[in-house]
Amino acid sequence: MSHIVIVGGGVIGAACAYYLSVAGCKVTIVEQGEFGKGCSHGNCGFICPSHVLPLTMPGAVKAALKSLFLKDSPFRIKPRLDLALWSWLWNFARRCNERDMMLAAAAIQPLLNSSRDLYDELMQLAGMDCEWQTRGMLFVLQTRSAFIHYEKTTDLLRDQFQLRFRKLVGEELTAFEPALKAGLAGGWHFDTDAHLRPDKLLSSWKRILQSRGVAIRENCRVIGFAGQLATARTARTTEGDIAGDGFVVAAGALTPFLNQALGCRIPIQPGKGYSITMPRPQRCPQVPMVFEEHRVAVTPMLSGYRLGSTMEFAGYDATLDRRRLAILTNGARHYLHEPTCEPVEEEWFGWRPMTYDSVPIIDASPAWRNVWIAAGHNMLGLSMAPATGRLICELITGVTPHIDPKPYSLQRFVR
Ligand SMILES: Cc1cc2nc3c(=O)[nH]c(=O)nc-3n(C[C@H](O)[C@H](O)[C@H](O)COP(=O)(O)OP(=O)(O)OC[C@H]3O[C@@H](n4cnc5c(N)ncnc54)[C@H](O)[C@@H]3O)c2cc1C
Repeated sequence: MSHIVIVGGGVIGAACAYYLSVAGCKVTIVEQGEFGKGCSHGNCGFICPSHVLPLTMPGAVKAALKSLFLKDSPFRIKPRLDLALWSWLWNFARRCNERDMMLAAAAIQPLLNSSRDLYDELMQLAGMDCEWQTRGMLFVLQTRSAFIHYEKTTDLLRDQFQLRFRKLVGEELTAFEPALKAGLAGGWHFDTDAHLRPDKLLSSWKRILQSRGVAIRENCRVIGFAGQLATARTARTTEGDIAGDGFVVAAGALTPFLNQALGCRIPIQPGKGYSITMPRPQRCPQVPMVFEEHRVAVTPMLSGYRLGSTMEFAGYDATLDRRRLAILTNGARHYLHEPTCEPVEEEWFGWRPMTYDSVPIIDASPAWRNVWIAAGHNMLGLSMAPATGRLICELITGVTPHIDPKPYSLQRFVR
């Protein structure tokens, strides 16, 4: 039986561990902190095939530049001398065109769709306990001009990506979701989306993995690999060496710290986002929502209520900035009768693992033929985790992949 060592106990590491263990491998997860407490902990919990369009859209650079001069913009770059950041931004800007947007979306969609199906299966077969709900997702527009403009996006989603949605104008919107204020322009409801409570997903997955015999070693940081002839034999950790037949680096936004060990430069930047978790307000929304113009996401969970979003390129800055949290509550006030509810249960930030083309990396490392990378899931790691885990398992065990892995190769960065 092969022993596979996974670096990182986030949702991607958990999904890889699950499918490898189902395939009969012995699995060890090595986590530098606590399992499930990285970016996978406090995110918005959306499982959203509707979010197929990448950040690299035509006009994204102009919009980003404009927002840099706005006070309290959800998007922010902390100016500093950092070559990796500026090279990342330059490459991002180069991809903000129609062709690259469509290429990225075509790469993302199979992972989103397959994961959505696999979540249904996991909820039934694996017995996940994570407040799984299949109520779809509502995109809400405040102003008439933004609503009309957004229709171009929904046309594209319908015609090129076969997404189903229902258009809700004016009062139809408040009839559909009474938690919303009157006077909003309208919205679109995508019925295939689902949502869950991410911290519960992770603790449930931890329990299931342990019951399957997966070893989870916490407070243990991987610092490199050792082996011969391009075959790694051990993971070097702060707690000693761990032998394995194969290795998967699922270290999220921290993956570039292993650049030397992987023999390449991983183009991932941390994209800092925030969330606030509260009890459910009296007039709690029934459906998860995105307020497009204010870039605020709302997650009504069974045991709570969350506002999340914002995107900040500030390096590995670990401070919790209350002004960024206020952007969420202030934004939600434009749309909801009860945007907040006391007492606040958790104020949180996470570093999204952002690649400059919005597509994750699922590939072998150039230095070792048996060290795989599964990282860079951007804003959609939760939504793409099961298919990523299954694909990694197929690549390691030599089974025909259920998704073409080519779009996720490291080779694409060499162009
Ligand atoms: C505000 C916000 C809202 C979001 N909402 C959504 C959403 O609604 N839907 C969605 O699909 N996605 C969402 N995301 C994105 C999603 O959270 C991420 O894409 C996803 O969590 C990434 O998972 P991961 O396993 O790659 O990373 P992580 O969860 O960060 O896990 C990586 C783990 O690796 C560990 N690690 C790193 N280096 C080492 C090492 N050397 N040795 C050992 N361990 C190591 C870390 O400690 C960490 O625990 C959101 C993100 C944010 C910030």
